[in-house]
Amino acid sequence: MKTALITGASRGIGTACAIALAKQGYNIVLNYNNSEGKAQSLSKIIADNYGVDVLCVKADVSDKAQVEAMVKSALEKFEYIDVLVNNAGIALQKLFTDTTEDDWNKVMSTNLTSVYNVTHAVLPDMIRNHSGNIVNISSMWGEVGASMEVAYSASKAGVIGLTKALSKEVAPSNIRVNCVSPGVIMTDMMSGFSDEDLSMIKEEIPLCEFGTAKNVADAVAFLVSDKARFITGQVISVNGGMVM
Ligand code: NAP
Repeated sequence: MKTALITGASRGIGTACAIALAKQGYNIVLNYNNSEGKAQSLSKIIADNYGVDVLCVKADVSDKAQVEAMVKSALEKFEYIDVLVNNAGIALQKLFTDTTEDDWNKVMSTNLTSVYNVTHAVLPDMIRNHSGNIVNISSMWGEVGASMEVAYSASKAGVIGLTKALSKEVAPSNIRVNCVSPGVIMTDMMSGFSDEDLSMIKEEIPLCEFGTAKNVADAVAFLVSDKARFITGQVISVNGGMVM
């Protein structure tokens, strides 16, 4: 049985990815940081409904030591991690001139250094086994940049650069590395926007609707499947046509 580790799986897109991969028969390593109750109840839902094993692990993905401890416990339980979904992330809406060094470092460490931390801990075993699949969750703002989201956009552009470079480096080891780049997806991350803001944003989406966490998870599930066997180093946009 294969195993997938999903970071930030306690809510939103990470939760949808955990469910989508459990439905495909993967054992799940479900990472969370603050939302312990949600992570525990998701673990139970997955174990009860999909006949797979779940390990629920608290770790702040921006902290290398915590990540290494998480991966160690995952490998003790499941022996091998076949799929890694680097999903955990935070948003920041602020003028660049108001963005403090602490803001900058927090966004970078949570959204980009985290991808280094988790991938660095998981990859050696994938290379040894000559097999593996990594999907990093970026953002359309990492592709085109957003005003008042410079730190966030830079961190997500970094995720795209990391994906492309690493995919070239590890392709000879039969490891695929891809990126999913969501547009506006209705999760807690969007809760700060007013109804007025949301209706203005919706007008810019050619498909005239917001995305769901499941829309993103479906792309992740496709990328790790054999149907995507010849796809690596790519950025798959899931944004209703908002950015192209
Ligand atoms: P969300 O609903 O706010 O959930 C964020 C998840 O990340 C939570 O499970 C949270 O865990 C986890 N997380 C945050 N910081 C963490 C840390 N330091 N260590 C471990 N886990 C951490 O957000 P979402 O919308 O699902 O976003 C998921 C990913 O998609 C993010 O990378 C985001 O940038 C990206 N994205 C989202 C959208 C959108 O419109 N929603 C668009 C483009 C890209 P805890 O609650 O347990 O702390």
